[in-house]
Amino acid sequence: MEPLRKLLKNQNSEKTTEQIFSEVFADQDVKAFLNTNRDRLTDEDIQRGRSKLYEYVHEKHLAQNGAPSVAPGYTPRLVMSAGQIDVTYVPTAQLLKQQALQAKQRRVSKRYMPKFIEHATLDDYYTNNEGRAAALNAAVKFVNGYSKGNFVPGIYLSGSFGVGKTYLLGAIANELADQGVNSMLIHFPTFAVNMKGSIARHTTEQERDEVKQAPILMLDDIGADALSPWLRDEVLGVILEYRMQEELPTFFSSNFSMDELTDHLAQDNNGNSEPLKAQRIMERIRFLSREVRMVGPNLRTKG
Ligand code: ADP
Ligand code: MG
Repeated sequence: MEPLRKLLKNQNSEKTTEQIFSEVFADQDVKAFLNTNRDRLTDEDIQRGRSKLYEYVHEKHLAQNGAPSVAPGYTPRLVMSAGQIDVTYVPTAQLLKQQALQAKQRRVSKRYMPKFIEHATLDDYYTNNEGRAAALNAAVKFVNGYSKGNFVPGIYLSGSFGVGKTYLLGAIANELADQGVNSMLIHFPTFAVNMKGSIARHTTEQERDEVKQAPILMLDDIGADALSPWLRDEVLGVILEYRMQEELPTFFSSNFSMDELTDHLAQDNNGNSEPLKAQRIMERIRFLSREVRMVGPNLRTKG
């Protein structure tokens, strides 16, 4: 064992081997371990296990002092192994917490989304007016009612800029992640621009499929930009059609109400109006989600 050998060889070390081991045997955890296993250990076993006991004490102190140890994030534990003293390393509570947080964050796949949603929670959601309270109620109802294979419509959050629509979508996704449910949040306008580029990359289908199959999909800021007929019908339309067939909950946020979005989707960027195409998209959106209007001050103007 490296540190022991080094220490014993170290000419400058003021401690003798004897002193080192008397400290090791004075350690409360070592004492407790030897006491527990008294009947299973001969004096010879203990003599042979000294270096393990030393390793244990040494690594425990490194971990306690936050110094670099052989296995960062792990703490040593004394065990009996094939009748001999041994040391194993178990994850610290801090490491387990960090791993759980990472696993949770991996369940929320984010594309082009602001970073603040990582920390969004339903518990921290302000409900200072009726619109926000209704939105929070709908969110809580969804989170409690959803289970895989059981279709529950998502929420269509409409309301002006800065009322907290994106924040609420993030909070719902984080809450679902706690329950082990995977979701995907996409800033729809950026995704749409990116999808145009997928034609040249020959990846349109693949990129569209990844999105359409997400167990929970959240399309943020839908209607923020005018969509070409291709984006409306072949990208958005196909994604929504699939999700409707498969009964996969889908969330939206928009500055437009559903009625306003209908008009917006009918217009293409050449000034043509295609109300029937817009109606088809809206039918799917209405199947997949229920509208909740959020009103309130623009939270972004706050410091
Ligand atoms: P919208 O998507 O409706 O335009 P956002 O979700 O982006 O609004 O919210 C605007 C700002 O307010 C963001 O910076 C966000 O962090 C903050 N915010 C919104 N709701 C909350 C909340 N409940 N708690 C803390 N901050 C919030
Ligand atoms: Mg937003």
